[in-house]
Amino acid sequence: MSKSQIQYSIVVPVYNEELVIGETYKRLKRVMDSTEEAYEIIFVNDGSKDGTVEIAKTICNMDKNIKLLSFSRNFGHQLAISAGMDYSSGNAVVVIDADLQDPPEVILEMIKKWKEGYDVVYGRRAKREGETFFKKFTAKAFYRTLKSMTDIDIPVDTGDFRLIDRRVCDKLKSLPEHNRYVRGLVSWVGYKQTGVEFVRHERFAGETKYPLKKMLKFATDGIVSFSYKPLKFPLYIGGAVSAISVIYFIAYLLKAVITGTHASGLNLALSMIFFLVGGIFIILGIMGEYISRMGDEAKGRPLYIIGDKEGFKDEA
Ligand code: UDP
Ligand code: MG
Repeated sequence: MSKSQIQYSIVVPVYNEELVIGETYKRLKRVMDSTEEAYEIIFVNDGSKDGTVEIAKTICNMDKNIKLLSFSRNFGHQLAISAGMDYSSGNAVVVIDADLQDPPEVILEMIKKWKEGYDVVYGRRAKREGETFFKKFTAKAFYRTLKSMTDIDIPVDTGDFRLIDRRVCDKLKSLPEHNRYVRGLVSWVGYKQTGVEFVRHERFAGETKYPLKKMLKFATDGIVSFSYKPLKFPLYIGGAVSAISVIYFIAYLLKAVITGTHASGLNLALSMIFFLVGGIFIILGIMGEYISRMGDEAKGRPLYIIGDKEGFKDEA
């Protein structure tokens, strides 16, 4: 594989970030200049309605290392990251938020790990500063819930702030799924991964661009894209309800026989209703099994990814 002239691509999604983009550019430039290697910073404007684009254009005209992609409307953070990766050409690609919550200086530590041979270096949030209790609590709970629901090793407390090698970026680009949960996809792709810890600071300026509605959509994408466990719930519920109704029915019949009383129609009807409800849940669970397999086909992920090959003549 031929090496790119550009060593690092820094992908920065921006949505209504006029208060921070100038400062972010300055901090990123300082850090990236210190590497003394070629780099590009790609701002991906996710349909901003404020002055973000004008500022980004001015920066682009001033500095040849800066590039700007502008969406025709707001498509969302995850798609902005994906577009940045699609248009990047560096040998390593770093994704970083625009609001300086992810300190640009940590990129240098990531680069060090990459040079040691890691393909993915993710930033693990050791501490989060300046965020509400609600945000911290829900984030912690979400990462742990997702981890317990999936077989993929998605590290907890890590966002999209990470460095990925070109070959990981190319694999991500080849995954066609629409509801993208990028940090999960990076874990799914595999390769040699490690983390560096950092303190997540307060936003430099402005407000979060993730209101509750977007956060819920994001969390749903994470769970639905990487776990089929929710589709199994009806099977468990149905099994339990049916089993209870059968036990109840048998116990009731035995009692009627032993005591010589008449079986009451109400009790029999109740156990019958529970049995039927349980049956419906079981059928839903079975349908879930089919839907999960259709989900796999629809996502169109490759069956496996080869990390390295040796001894084959036509090696890429
Ligand atoms: N962002 C985006 N599109 C959106 C929402 C956010 O590109 O629809 C960007 C935003 O400009 C920032 C990053 O995604 O660079 C993370 O957003 P934010 O800091 O608001 O999220 P939080 O840190 O509060 O979770
Ligand atoms: Mg932020």
